[in-house]
Amino acid sequence: MGIEQGILPGCGSAVGSEAEGKAKPEVGVGNPRYEAINREQLCWRHVDVERLIEAEHPARAVWEFVGKLDLRGYQEEARAVEGKAGRPGWDPRLLISLWVYAYSEGVGSARRIEELCEWEPAYQWLTGAQVINAHTLSDFRVKHDQALKGLFVQVLGLLTADGLITLERVMQDGTKIRAKAAGDSFRRKERVEQALEQARAQVEAVQGLSEEETSRRIATARKRAARERGERLEAAVEEFNQLAEEGKEKEKRRVSTSDPECRIMKQPDGGFAPSYNVQIDTDAKNCVVVAVGVVQAGNDFEQLEPGIHRVEHNQGKTPEEVVTDGGFVSRDTIVAMNKREIDYIAPCVDEGGKGEGSYNGRGVNAEYHSSAFVYDAQTDNYRCPQGKILSYEGKEQRHMQVSYRYRAQRSDCQGCAVKIQCCPGNRVAGRSVHRGEELAEITAFRQKMATERAREIYKQRAQVAETPNLWIKAKFGLRQFSVRGLRKVGMEALWACLTYNIRVWMRLRWRKAAVVAQPV
Ligand code: SF4
Repeated sequence: MGIEQGILPGCGSAVGSEAEGKAKPEVGVGNPRYEAINREQLCWRHVDVERLIEAEHPARAVWEFVGKLDLRGYQEEARAVEGKAGRPGWDPRLLISLWVYAYSEGVGSARRIEELCEWEPAYQWLTGAQVINAHTLSDFRVKHDQALKGLFVQVLGLLTADGLITLERVMQDGTKIRAKAAGDSFRRKERVEQALEQARAQVEAVQGLSEEETSRRIATARKRAARERGERLEAAVEEFNQLAEEGKEKEKRRVSTSDPECRIMKQPDGGFAPSYNVQIDTDAKNCVVVAVGVVQAGNDFEQLEPGIHRVEHNQGKTPEEVVTDGGFVSRDTIVAMNKREIDYIAPCVDEGGKGEGSYNGRGVNAEYHSSAFVYDAQTDNYRCPQGKILSYEGKEQRHMQVSYRYRAQRSDCQGCAVKIQCCPGNRVAGRSVHRGEELAEITAFRQKMATERAREIYKQRAQVAETPNLWIKAKFGLRQFSVRGLRKVGMEALWACLTYNIRVWMRLRWRKAAVVAQPV
């Protein structure tokens, strides 16, 4: 080829003289001929599976890491065992590696993994160029909940031994992830019961399907769909009892017929959607997730203590310091953390929301803030700057304290010359003031949160606590669960956090080791 390309017009040579004897094809005359593309053919190829992916490919890291784990928890239900006939089952190490790798690449669908096993090099490397059925993958993801929880704890043990977790400072945060249910799938109890009757009739109807009428595969699929719908509706009827226990007013009780255990929750964009509240505890040292739980509560108000229980269960140790945002702060939480000797860092919500600042919002002049009202312990009432009496009216549990309310006579305030400075918004009642009975723990908490140290620690919260949330939603694509029900949703959240922790290990340990192992 090089010689022929080297022959230029006018460059006489032996080769050139030999060629002169033959008729040269005329360029541009006749149709050009090209290699045919045959897409109908079936062909065999040699594939070196080991070389499908490079040495530093993340799939190798996942395989290596999962290989360090004790997977005996998955062996108990294995049906194919040595000495017995039958097709061998898939190795749990492979199925776990596949799911972890898939989640890390933003794939959360068993069907999609099955497709990727057909051609994608990393999946082919993991499976040894075999294809794994979507049903097998799907069942494996949600079947072994105890084994998966054990796996999560083992991963934490390895990361702790590697010095990646210290539990010196843990940050808890909640994030809403959408349920696999539409907003219009919520129904009242009567409608759910009607639908359940229809579903039962449907289950009976499909039981009678014979293989003559339809194929065996379609009949099985129809039976399965009818049975699953019936089960969901049974669960939906049960869920009304749960709503009653939660104190939901009867006329407002609605349950989703698609996923009865999800709840309508407020989203970060201000809208509302069927969701679950995923509570994540993150160790501040390297942003490793040390506990995860899924709850039906729409807010984080009572979620800190259960979160600490999960951390203790997973790590066998109590965190020294815990940081949350204001959504977790309550009098009970502060007292509980104090009792457990956990240093609790969170904003004093009362200061901004219900203190002197809110007086400004209501147009109350500084001279008429509650500090200007004088309390008389003997008579248990207040005297206002105009000398009028505010009598005891009642007690209420405010955010951080027990609060006693005192109120002036309506007639005193409506005719008062300074009403516009004291209580401009009060049209039908007299001015009120509150006397708080603050616990020593709350006072100490307020004093601590006023220090520079506490404020500096709190500034780290968003970056640490929201890192796993961002990874799980943005990188892994888990904005909506692919399974239904609290138990299965909890398992999917655990898979995502397990994957996230393995990625942390890959970033901090495996990549470094790979770089060191490179020849210089
Ligand atoms: S408005 Fe009522 S409470 Fe306020 S100063 Fe006048 S009388 Fe007193």
